[in-house]
Amino acid sequence: MNLILFGPPAAGKGTQAKRLVEERGFVQLSTGDMLRAARASGSELGERVAQIMDEGSLVSDEIVIALIDEQLEVQAGAPGFIFDGFPRTVGQAEALDRLLESRGEAVNRVIRILVDDDKLLSRVTQRFEEQGRKDDNPETFSKRLEKYYEDTAPLVPIYAERGILVEVDVMLHPAVFRVLQGNLDGVADAGAEHRPRHLVVEGPVAVLAAVV
Ligand code: ADP
Repeated sequence: MNLILFGPPAAGKGTQAKRLVEERGFVQLSTGDMLRAARASGSELGERVAQIMDEGSLVSDEIVIALIDEQLEVQAGAPGFIFDGFPRTVGQAEALDRLLESRGEAVNRVIRILVDDDKLLSRVTQRFEEQGRKDDNPETFSKRLEKYYEDTAPLVPIYAERGILVEVDVMLHPAVFRVLQGNLDGVADAGAEHRPRHLVVEGPVAVLAAVV
């Protein structure tokens, strides 16, 4: 199972990924976490990317693709991978397809978390208080959001066309995780439907109905 958690910065991708790790033993591959770890270790790579991250720009495709490639190798045999914050560009998405294809695999599901921009801003302010991330300030955040719309959002129609995109609207349904789980159970049914399935869910019964 190769699952992409997709969405704007501070949408809660990391939080959802961690829950799936606990519940299903999947391995979370967060390029943001990998880059922050590189910085914390004081490695040459960390130094190279620090400024880019702090100003809210994207690190080069080459670097993040190499990080993912390495982790797919190191963690080979895992029951599933959750790609969190990757891919963020069309080039990265193409590279991921190639990396998975060379292992006889493919992206099985893309779950897009939809959150209103003003809600994202309040989340980022809260996250700054909790984690103290330098890039979680309103100014840098608006740059990151801009990059998201410019470079990352174009991936949406690509995955929608493959029939593997599911959208979960956090504003309509705060209990996103239950919806995610339902979707994973229904993964064998990833159909050829050429538009995203939009889940509007009101309760557990509706959750089941929405994913079958
Ligand atoms: P968020 O989802 O809150 O934006 P991340 O932890 O995913 O945070 O990313 C933090 C920063 O790390 C990004 O703003 C960017 O500078 C860098 N980064 C993370 N993943 C990628 C990626 N796939 N491609 C390019 N840059 C990345």
